[in-house]
Amino acid sequence: MLALPVFLSKPIDPQPYEISPFNQEVYVMNQPMRILVTGAGGFIGHHLVKRLVADGHWVRGVDIKEPEYETTQADEFELLDLRRSDNCLIATRGGIDQVYNLAADMGGIGFISANHADIARNNTLINIYMLEASRLQGVRRFLFSSSACVYAQSKQREAAVEPLREEDAYPAEPEPGYGWEKLYTEQLCLYFAQDYRLDARVVRFHNVYGPLGTYDGGREKAPAAVCRKVALAENHGTIEIWGDGKQTRSFMYIQDCVEGLVRIMSSPFSKPVNLGTDRLITINDLVDLVADIIGKQLVKKHDLTKPQGVRGRNSDNRLLRSVLGWEPSITLEQGLAVTYAWIEQELLKAGRIRRRAVQTASPLL
Ligand code: NAD
Repeated sequence: MLALPVFLSKPIDPQPYEISPFNQEVYVMNQPMRILVTGAGGFIGHHLVKRLVADGHWVRGVDIKEPEYETTQADEFELLDLRRSDNCLIATRGGIDQVYNLAADMGGIGFISANHADIARNNTLINIYMLEASRLQGVRRFLFSSSACVYAQSKQREAAVEPLREEDAYPAEPEPGYGWEKLYTEQLCLYFAQDYRLDARVVRFHNVYGPLGTYDGGREKAPAAVCRKVALAENHGTIEIWGDGKQTRSFMYIQDCVEGLVRIMSSPFSKPVNLGTDRLITINDLVDLVADIIGKQLVKKHDLTKPQGVRGRNSDNRLLRSVLGWEPSITLEQGLAVTYAWIEQELLKAGRIRRRAVQTASPLL
């Protein structure tokens, strides 16, 4: 017997918000379901599969690759290239109730700034074919993983940025390539809901981090890259930082991300909503936080030739709180301690460091 999600027993902020015409399904959807997670070989998808299986659902995972660091817990895992329409029909076959569409060609700022055409083409194909297949197969609810990269760049020129509200995505001026594709697919979800009654959810993630995520090779994001660099640096050695380090971001731990995803999927709200924390921090301070975990003293060397993305970006969580009566709560100190410990362990396994500085097991997962 599944327990009711906590948010149902919590008072919801009375601020009005638009609800989906399909909201009568909200309570029914907390029963065991058949769920498809695309991108289940990736960071967020792998964690989400574990959570959904633990909640008692039957889960099919699909990706072009297996999870890198752990075996999947999905009931069924299929290797499929979702840039092909026939594969999307295979992925959605067999009475799937919900689709979490997380598959995407993506990476950190270095990767997304250098691959506009690949990213825009690959993700457009995945998202169009996944939406169409979900419609044809009668999927009951479809969640699209969008990104804070949809927000207008002109609103992110200061490090002390105003937190971004959902309406700040317009007039449209998103991140080239990756952000344009996300914004377009958000609209496509809206059109499919209006014209075909496909019940869609759109989540705008702000920088997710945690164990079992890519930490090397060019696709890693800032927190994982910083943990790796700190672990590899000698005490009193140097650490390379992209840009002047004064650029700001907010970061969300993976466990909060998965919790938010499940809650948004179950909620009646169908418009785009931020999912992130609203604690703004500079990259320099992020490096200090990680170095403090193991008490390393490091000299920062700033490489101004490297891409640093927008100057500042933060999540405004008013809508999220209003819709869910909940928001991410795991602190950066807690989340980074677990992430650092995991990356250090991986580096040790790979023979890139000789011994570990921290021994903590993962208390958060
Ligand atoms: P990830 O790269 O770890 O996972 C994405 C997965 O999609 C990968 O395993 C990849 O192999 C798979 N994939 C790529 N092309 C595919 C294809 N043609 N067919 C099938 N699978 C394919 O990334 P993630 O961090 O887990 O991100 C998940 C989703 O969240 C993505 O849509 C991403 O754009 C979005 N997002 C993530 C963040 C973040 O901070 N991690 C921020 C904003 C948005």
